[in-house]
Amino acid sequence: MRKPIMAGNWKMYKNPAETTAFFEKFRPLVAQSEHCEIVICPPYTNIAAAVAAAQGTRIGIGAQDLYWAKEGAFTGEVSGPMIKASGCSHVLVGHSERRQYFDETNETVLQRTIAALEAGLSPIVCVGERLAERESGETEAVLALQFRAGIGLLSADQFARIAIAYEPVWAIGTGKTATPEMAADAHRALRGQVRGRYGAEAADAVRILYGGSVKPDNVRILMAQPELDGVLVGGASLDANSFASIVNF
Ligand code: PEP
Repeated sequence: MRKPIMAGNWKMYKNPAETTAFFEKFRPLVAQSEHCEIVICPPYTNIAAAVAAAQGTRIGIGAQDLYWAKEGAFTGEVSGPMIKASGCSHVLVGHSERRQYFDETNETVLQRTIAALEAGLSPIVCVGERLAERESGETEAVLALQFRAGIGLLSADQFARIAIAYEPVWAIGTGKTATPEMAADAHRALRGQVRGRYGAEAADAVRILYGGSVKPDNVRILMAQPELDGVLVGGASLDANSFASIVNF
């Protein structure tokens, strides 16, 4: 049985005071939610507040990105060891907004994933096709390429420590959700890639999250697909009640 991961990506929203206020509301709402792992990824500036507010709970805190060098003259960047030392357990890697606006490639996704693992963080590595790619029937080919040129180059031991988030780019922040069947098909295709590269056991074990306009009113139907091992939620994770209803689907 794969334990679901219900993860929130706050993107560039909230300040430390708003973070503390969120957790005051959110903590009691998920105090009994032992069916899943809960992860919240605030902006770097709120990690300290989030870690303090999540202390004594099972809520993990993650960063939204990391740089692959451990330290050095890389103005504006933050490394895996720094994120780990600030109390995070997780980190997002290769989010489509990083790919789209900040030149993230499959190669740099791989470098960041390795750096995260070396720092003792659990990476949630994002993949997904754009609208034009889906419309031209290339979804599986795009996912295969993202896999083969990225996380498919990890060693088996490294791969065993990551989770994947399938996030169709056209569904992120648009209100358009993939149908449960579309999501399950993409997850099956990804799991097939994992099986081919790392074997059946790894394919059965890896957790693949779905992300793209997940809301309290569609989470249940998505999570009814056995292929979905959790969700990565942007907009709807900013409100404590809304994210708690998603966690407690
Ligand atoms: C995301 O940021 O990963 C995401 C899926 O956003 P939203 O839920 O707002 O579509």
